[in-house]
Amino acid sequence: MLLIGNGMLVTRDPANPWFENGCVAIEDRLIAAVGKTSDMRSKYPNARFLDAAGGLIMPGFINAHMHFYSAFSRGFSSGGEPAKNFQEVLERLWWRLDRGLTLEDCYYSAMVCLIDCIKNGTTTVLDHHASPYAVRGSLFELGKAARLTGIRCCLSYEVSDRDGPEIVRQGIDENMDFIRWAQKEGDDLLQGTFGLHASMTLSNETLVACREAMGDCNAGFHVHVAEGPGDEVDSEKRYGKRILERFREYGLLGERSMAIHCIHINDREIDILKETNTAVVHNPESNMGNAVGVSPVLKLCERGVLTGLGTDGYVSDMLQSYKLANALQKHAMEHPNVAWGEIPTMLFDNNATIAGRFFKTPLGRLAPGYSADVIVSDYVPPTTLTDQNINGHLLFGTSGRSIVTTIARGKVLMENRELKELDEKEIVGKARELSAKTWERIAAL
Ligand SMILES: [Zn+2]
Repeated sequence: MLLIGNGMLVTRDPANPWFENGCVAIEDRLIAAVGKTSDMRSKYPNARFLDAAGGLIMPGFINAHMHFYSAFSRGFSSGGEPAKNFQEVLERLWWRLDRGLTLEDCYYSAMVCLIDCIKNGTTTVLDHHASPYAVRGSLFELGKAARLTGIRCCLSYEVSDRDGPEIVRQGIDENMDFIRWAQKEGDDLLQGTFGLHASMTLSNETLVACREAMGDCNAGFHVHVAEGPGDEVDSEKRYGKRILERFREYGLLGERSMAIHCIHINDREIDILKETNTAVVHNPESNMGNAVGVSPVLKLCERGVLTGLGTDGYVSDMLQSYKLANALQKHAMEHPNVAWGEIPTMLFDNNATIAGRFFKTPLGRLAPGYSADVIVSDYVPPTTLTDQNINGHLLFGTSGRSIVTTIARGKVLMENRELKELDEKEIVGKARELSAKTWERIAAL
């Protein structure tokens, strides 16, 4: 038994949202109880006590769209003419970087990002992977890294026609092998879903092959939708229909499917998302950085489409995504008073619902029976803090680096900013060494 107490306990459980001096009790991988610190200490006198020292105790964050493989892009310059639009960003950066990756690179990219997740309080990640010259075994390398770090991951390989039919075949097999393996594995640390790049790099033949390979596995599809304006233009020109009409026709949408971005979709496509119960994931920093437009997330929420929040490989800090999502909607709507409710709901509730479509253990709350994913922030509020204004305090007063302790599935991964199990310097040093070679390979491609 482990107690984390003497802090402001924010449970995200509507029945029991808040304890001013609260404590959470962990038994094995699950939360056993929550309550006042004094009560919990007398109830469990022999438990180990971890002192939150007056900080915030909260559920670990969930990142609903991530690319571990992006780790080696940091500081990379693709050379030549700078990209003038999103298509050129893909061609000059991402589709060159991913071709340079080996299986070892995939593993260390994941390790670097997962360490960052621990340091920023993220305990569950839904990742979308690409390494077209090292497809087979890549999801298992990522899974190995997830298992070593203790972070729960739902993994997928992004199938795309851009590297030819043999790589498509390998991508399909990698997705299905991992999905089936994870479903059998049964410890609920790893799950798989079927990754697809985006409509513009997926022919009808490839979509049919992916749907057929899925069979009755019902693991859902994780796919970018209408990220840049060109994706819808391409779909209308080549297939005479909008992207989500096309994906519905090929049986790719549904409760376990995730449509990432959805920036340029129309009203009819919003209806399709709602009708098929497909989730959307918004990635504000990436959208701003790629200058691709603003996802209509307020409209999606209003129309009842399950909408979550991710980082798209930009960062591993969900509080950064939270801040940018808030500011971006206000800026885009030219209204300072919108999005106060929707953005916190996306991060704190909807991400847990999305992840809950893949994992059996309940996530995202400090309540009995939920996964013991608990984080502590050293935040000291300079003004009154209650359960009514906690989201404003988090927005303006904290960042990922204010997380000092991260516990995932009952295991203490970081305590007082010290990683308990991993040698960060050694892992990052190895990544630096490997990435230099990756950059050389990319230059020669
Ligand atoms: Zn993405």
